[in-house]
Amino acid sequence: MQKRVIDVDALAEAVRDNERAALARAITLVESTRADHRQQAQQLLLKLSPASASSATAVVSNRVGITGVPGVGKSTFIDALGMHLIGKGHRVAVLAVDPSSTRTGGSILGDKTRMARLSVERNAYIRPSPTAGTLGGVAKATRETIVLLEAAGYDVILVETVGVGQSEVTVANMVDVFCFLTLARTGDQLQGIKKGVLELADLVAVNKADGKHEMEAKSAARELSGALRLIHPHDALWRPPVLTMSGLEGVGLDKFWDTVLEHRRVLTDAGEFDEKRRRQQVDWTWTMVHDQLLRRLADNPHVKAIRAQVEKQVREGTLTAALAAEQLLDAFDS
Ligand code: GDP
Repeated sequence: MQKRVIDVDALAEAVRDNERAALARAITLVESTRADHRQQAQQLLLKLSPASASSATAVVSNRVGITGVPGVGKSTFIDALGMHLIGKGHRVAVLAVDPSSTRTGGSILGDKTRMARLSVERNAYIRPSPTAGTLGGVAKATRETIVLLEAAGYDVILVETVGVGQSEVTVANMVDVFCFLTLARTGDQLQGIKKGVLELADLVAVNKADGKHEMEAKSAARELSGALRLIHPHDALWRPPVLTMSGLEGVGLDKFWDTVLEHRRVLTDAGEFDEKRRRQQVDWTWTMVHDQLLRRLADNPHVKAIRAQVEKQVREGTLTAALAAEQLLDAFDS
């Protein structure tokens, strides 16, 4: 983006009118790390935030996180679910959180060629993972992009990720419902599923339940239900169900979406739905404070000046870790 003054008001209006080129420009703006862009991006987001939209135009979106190992069938499923929902009158956006994609050269989530039907659909918008590098940077851009897409009238936001590092936690913290796609695994193979992802999931779906794998998938679903019962207490507001489906054949899409809506209903009735979104915003605020504090600490000239010496003393045992930490923080404060 060249250095020129961006008319934030005009851009906001064009985004609201769902002009695709404007939306792409707005997303590029929130993905930018340049200081002047960051400021303009925040002005844009304020103008487009639901609080400043009239209630008549504000869309009530469903933000859905989808995770699963490469090959589990995420893009096939998202393509099928997206088309299914568009058929019901929804407008669907697909985002990806994959900070590793640029480094590993692996499959790039949100790559349009992986979603053949959605990518040419007028009521769909697909955006691959920003390549901002750190997970924090990618998460920030993705969260802000969600605001833009909702302002443009997309009422289903699908956020795709893979189980690399902290990316699942990051996505679970920005969506209403977090869905884990898995393949038919039973017995010992169940051990291969990270316990962490089962704790995060609001919905588990055993995918590729078609052809000769259908029975296998059903029994895997039963075993997984058992495993989940051990994680979630009986009196939990929501106990994650385990579904079987086939993204390829389009079987189980209705049930999947009904479950997403049911989850929303249960949380809403308990007063938890809006509260969850509000809590996510507050948590997110503090995450950014933490990230920026760490960056400022690392860049601080006083800290830089003593850092090597302090580390050397800790290595040699002439300074305790606690005293060293105090010295570094004192230098930061000075
Ligand atoms: P992703 O890496 O998780 O996005 O997985 P893909 O959607 O690219 O699918 C990986 C492979 O599994 C492809 O060859 C798909 O055709 C196949 N596949 C995806 N979904 C299904 C399904 O529901 N049933 C079967 N049998 N194959 C599937």
